[in-house]
Amino acid sequence: MIELDSPAGILQALEKAANSGQLPLAKQAMDIVMGEGDMSAEIMLIGEAPGYHESVQRRPFVGVSGKLLRKTLEEVGIQPAAVYISNIVKVRPPDNRDPSPEEILAFKPYLDREIAILQPKLIITLGRFSMAKFLPGVFISQVHGRLHKVVWEDTPVYVLPMYHPAAALRSGSMKAAFLADFQKVPKIVAWLAEQHVLQQEVEEVKAALL
Ligand code: URA
Repeated sequence: MIELDSPAGILQALEKAANSGQLPLAKQAMDIVMGEGDMSAEIMLIGEAPGYHESVQRRPFVGVSGKLLRKTLEEVGIQPAAVYISNIVKVRPPDNRDPSPEEILAFKPYLDREIAILQPKLIITLGRFSMAKFLPGVFISQVHGRLHKVVWEDTPVYVLPMYHPAAALRSGSMKAAFLADFQKVPKIVAWLAEQHVLQQEVEEVKAALL
């Protein structure tokens, strides 16, 4: 029995589904690119789908846009151990086309399990597809870099929508926005930690009064 209680278990389930032809885009287990990172990471980054380099190395964000993303994280002082990086679709779409709604839906249960296991303090969406998972019907140009508290699957989550690094590489103004938005992350994480402490104190007071 495959247990979906760890990234390794989720990967096993994805590989099994791929081998038995139950996943769109995937022809074999080797096509799957699983999320990676520390399970105690406070920040989860969610991109779109693997590209060529990701599908060869079987690691998310290791191509050109991944290099920009990882360099930016380092520049703003976010340690690699503080992040877990994944994608909404875990197989490279042909010619790097946009993932279809059916493909996003097929991979949804696996991404949902990653989120449920990790319970990140902050979810950073990269690009409009992962943003739409939490903030449907909004325009990325209007909301990027702004922290949102949303109720997702009955749980409150903090979501920070960002431009995709590939978009930042295509346009100077988007790159400036991408870098400026990432500069805000350390302060947001510190603020979220404060909120967490305050919430715990409120719970303690409530418990004492009951
Ligand atoms: N773009 C993505 O959205 N994800 C990757 O893993 C690589 C490029």
